[in-house]
Amino acid sequence: MRHDLVVTGGTVIDPASGLHGPADVAIAGGRIAAVGPGIGTADAADAIDATGCLVVPGLVDLHVHVYWGVADLSIRPGPNDLERGATTIVDAGSSGANTFPGFRRYVIEPFEGRILALLNISAMGQIDPFLGELHDARYLIAERAAEVALAHPDRIVGFKVRLTETLTGPNGRIALERAVEAGTIANLPVMVHVGGSTTTTDEIMGMLRPGDIVTHAFTDRPNGIFRDDGRVHDAALDARRRGVRFDVGHGAGSFRFRRAEAALADGFPPDTISSDLHRFNDEGPVFDLVTTLSKLLHLGLPLETVIAMATKAPAAAIGRSGAFGTLAPGAEADVAVLRLDEGPVTFSDAYGDTIEGRRRLVPVVTLRQGRRVIVGSHGSAR
Ligand SMILES: [Zn+2]
Repeated sequence: MRHDLVVTGGTVIDPASGLHGPADVAIAGGRIAAVGPGIGTADAADAIDATGCLVVPGLVDLHVHVYWGVADLSIRPGPNDLERGATTIVDAGSSGANTFPGFRRYVIEPFEGRILALLNISAMGQIDPFLGELHDARYLIAERAAEVALAHPDRIVGFKVRLTETLTGPNGRIALERAVEAGTIANLPVMVHVGGSTTTTDEIMGMLRPGDIVTHAFTDRPNGIFRDDGRVHDAALDARRRGVRFDVGHGAGSFRFRRAEAALADGFPPDTISSDLHRFNDEGPVFDLVTTLSKLLHLGLPLETVIAMATKAPAAAIGRSGAFGTLAPGAEADVAVLRLDEGPVTFSDAYGDTIEGRRRLVPVVTLRQGRRVIVGSHGSAR
């Protein structure tokens, strides 16, 4: 048998390869062997019939929290991500320089899916739900963060800083400065969580470098990407022109439909769509990444664009283009088989607003390195 597994009869969408159409996906040795029409199953040990389904690269969720048992907010990885199509998840700041080794040893390495990390600029990471990680500026050690990142280049893909005042106290600006400093030393991007900061939009955007990432782009909180009149802020437009990226990061307080609508109306779509899955939204309104994708699809982004924003674009944002987020032959065989179900559906944002949709993406089968992910095998998410 030439192929271990062939996914047949589906519609392949792989923006990284420029593919959108009927095709089979052949897998051998845990990697993509071939993609194209008519490969068939005659020379395959196993097959998945994807008739009526979309076959896309395993999704990449650029913002989740999975340092369960240690970091505030975190859920167990698996039930809400890998089992639902996201084969690569990026933990956004749950661990810091002092706590990353445990994250790597006890969570990242045993897990079947691929977990990468954005290291919190606070050395302790997100330990306490009430005492924010940036209240004590002594935890902001750029050199140590950079050193830990450089010691784990296979897992740490950048830095994270949360700029909400309850988390920073008076240290918002210095925290961002330190994060950018660490990013400069390690030559890695910084993801900035905006919304409710003491630093202004002008200040934040002005400090970001090309390749840095603004998450919670469509939050309703102040000092995000919007001006008081609801239009996209000039500083955000300017930052995008310089190469700063804008990420959804839905979360429990960071995605409002009318903000997303306003941004899209202003010609300001996100670069990447992420869930910010954590324990206050995994049972709704976020649920999983495909539900977040469905919301953006409903708001008018084309299907292929939505898939690109959760495959090719996040892989590029963390410097991993071609390694995953693609079905190109040779890539690890991470595949999400999805269905686009037609029918009425009510979507909720993080503020309790609802919209009535007409279709939604639903996960059907996830493959990780060519193997079917067994649903239910990762236990409870909480
Ligand atoms: Zn988050």
